[in-house]
Amino acid sequence: MRESKNRDDELVFVATNDISAITRGRAMRLGDLDFATGCGWVPANIGIGPFGHIVDGIAFGSIGDLRLIPDAGTLTRIDGIPGKPPVNVVLADITHTDGTAWECCPRTFLRRAIEDLESETGLSVHAAFEHEFMLLSDAVPDAPFSYQAMRSVEPMGTELLQILADAGLDPENWLPEYGAHQWELTVGATGALAAADRAVLLRDIVRDYAVATGRRASFSPLVDAEGSGNGAHVHLSLRDAAGAPATYDPDLPGRLSKAAGSFAAGILRHTAALVALTSPSDISYLRLSPHRWSAAQAFLGERNREAMLRVCPTIDMAGKEIGPQFNLEFRAGDAAGNPWLTMGALIRAGLEGIRDGLPTPVVVDRQVEELSPEERGAAGVSDLPGSLAEALDALQADEVVRGWFAPDLIDIHRAIKRDEINQLVGLSEAEKCRRYTGVY
Ligand code: GLU
Ligand code: MG
Repeated sequence: MRESKNRDDELVFVATNDISAITRGRAMRLGDLDFATGCGWVPANIGIGPFGHIVDGIAFGSIGDLRLIPDAGTLTRIDGIPGKPPVNVVLADITHTDGTAWECCPRTFLRRAIEDLESETGLSVHAAFEHEFMLLSDAVPDAPFSYQAMRSVEPMGTELLQILADAGLDPENWLPEYGAHQWELTVGATGALAAADRAVLLRDIVRDYAVATGRRASFSPLVDAEGSGNGAHVHLSLRDAAGAPATYDPDLPGRLSKAAGSFAAGILRHTAALVALTSPSDISYLRLSPHRWSAAQAFLGERNREAMLRVCPTIDMAGKEIGPQFNLEFRAGDAAGNPWLTMGALIRAGLEGIRDGLPTPVVVDRQVEELSPEERGAAGVSDLPGSLAEALDALQADEVVRGWFAPDLIDIHRAIKRDEINQLVGLSEAEKCRRYTGVY
């Protein structure tokens, strides 16, 4: 591979990530990118569904132009993918041609949610996405979590973690997961916008590496209808205006600070609508079923992997402080969800909970099946929508959640998802999984 001598000669991909959670954009030589004005973009592109066509019935057609304005702070150099030259990616906010924000830009949606949380409460969210995916293979799978599984794909782990570290994504764990040919990658926590930016980048870096080495990686919520699902769990904690941890209070119920308790309650209150955004594929609802350790029901659980919202374990040794580690994990997310929309919607829901002073939900410390009907009621345990259609109806019915979005954005989301459901009518679960495996 011919290495360019000058970084300006390398390609830069100016990127957005859309309602279908696909990273799209335009490339040019880095030296030719004007960071102030970016590059052109087309409004109707936001209407492209996961199966690759612009869906009917959306507000944008052949007319209109936008700009992708790069956020220079996100410029990331991806180097070390075998057989491929280094490439730069810069994430962009979408604006009108006069530079004013485009109301349908998913990244702008998150930035505004962060700003509102901060200006109204002085709080910010510290976060990390946890990524699961399958390496597609017909080979007999290695044992879950095993040394053999880890070694069998080398040098993938070594090279991939180096690429991610060099790109500033702060990789933590690389582990063979429970499912056949399933892997998990975790990264360090950071501010909410950077955490979502990392999630956008990570998925494509992994896919890129896989293709370059003769494999296919799929983050699809379910690759095998009978197998394990791939989650994109989101770890969240609050920081105060001085940047100090603000999630933990050992003297309050659930050991959650008042603000964190209200934040969690806000997420639970809006769950049914939220999942239409965070788990937005048709097969996401096969994954969100009991005993898959995904998120069978909506409740706040202590260290319970069936809970939609989980109080995570802390390291209680070697003098580690609990406050900075204490975090909540939202488990009803997957890679069909745009990370900016997912994170923005969680922050908006949390902010609603804080605004309304909602009390901390009862933290369920047992299996839900062991609770009496009264205990379930007290903990507010509720079923998640059983299908994408049900989730869309819940979103339609939740005026608060719909009110967070520009009407065009929410309408296009609905049009894409309705089209997606229609594309899959009559297919078996296995056939549906197959369709999505190639997309995510
Ligand atoms: N694969 C599970 C899911 O679909 C998560 C397993 C875990 O990491 O706890 O969310
Ligand atoms: Mg996992």
